[in-house]
Amino acid sequence: MPLFAVHTGIKIPSTGSVKNYADTTGATLLDFRIRLYGATTKRHYETVCESCEKREGKKKGTPSLVDFHAEREVIELKDGKIRVQFRFCCYPKCHNLGDTGYL
Ligand SMILES: [Zn+2]
Repeated sequence: MPLFAVHTGIKIPSTGSVKNYADTTGATLLDFRIRLYGATTKRHYETVCESCEKREGKKKGTPSLVDFHAEREVIELKDGKIRVQFRFCCYPKCHNLGDTGYL
C-alpha cells in the first residue's frame, strides 16, 4: 500500500516560523523530523550553538537547528505532493567540532 493511501499529510515540528497550531483530531498524519549529523564526525547535532541561540531566541518557541516555514504545523497532501520549506538556523562550523557540513 502506498504510504499516503492512509495518511492525509505530515505534521512538522512547531518551530519559530510555524504560524498556527493545527487541529489534528481524526487526521492520520506522518510525523516529519529532520535529524542532523556532522559530515565528518557523524555526531548528532541536536541544539543550536550559543550565538545562534541568542539570535533565534528572540522568536517564539525554543530555537531549533531547523526552522520550518509554514502556516500550520500540518502540511496536507496536494496534487500527490508535499512541499516542506525550512531553513537551517545554525551551522556545524558554529560548533567548532570539526564538521564543515551536515549529513
Ligand atoms: Zn550556530
